[in-house]
Amino acid sequence: ILMTLDQNCVFCKIVNGEIPASKIYEDEHVLAFLDISQVTKGHTLVIPKNHHTDLFDLPQETSKHIYSVVPKLASAIKQTYNAEGLNMVNNNGEVAGQTVFHYHVHLIPRYGKGDGFG
Ligand code: 5GP
Ligand code: ZN
Repeated sequence: ILMTLDQNCVFCKIVNGEIPASKIYEDEHVLAFLDISQVTKGHTLVIPKNHHTDLFDLPQETSKHIYSVVPKLASAIKQTYNAEGLNMVNNNGEVAGQTVFHYHVHLIPRYGKGDGFG
């Protein structure tokens, strides 16, 4: 399998096992793991295994892989954590709040007022 990795990228390091993560889902193209600083319980990041900086750098094929698993993951997380709702967030560019420049989707379970997000 041809993989595109960036040796300075923290998410690429998670993909290739250089640093640990609490993985909740993995297939050939996609990895999902708990955010290291969860804004709410169960805050999960979904990433393509290949390195793409942001939405503007995401091939359509990769987008298909990501979004073919996101709804199922969101449902599973909502059910597992007994959440009432969930925010799906994607920041693109520093100006938009992106801090890790490897494309990722945040799945943030919501529990109600004062749950820590929004
Ligand atoms: P962004 O601000 O780029 O949309 O989100 C980056 C997210 O990655 C942040 O929520 C941050 O907590 C998370 N993060 C940064 N470094 C690591 C890490 O090494 N492991 C994990 N699991 N999450 C990380
Ligand atoms: Zn990367």
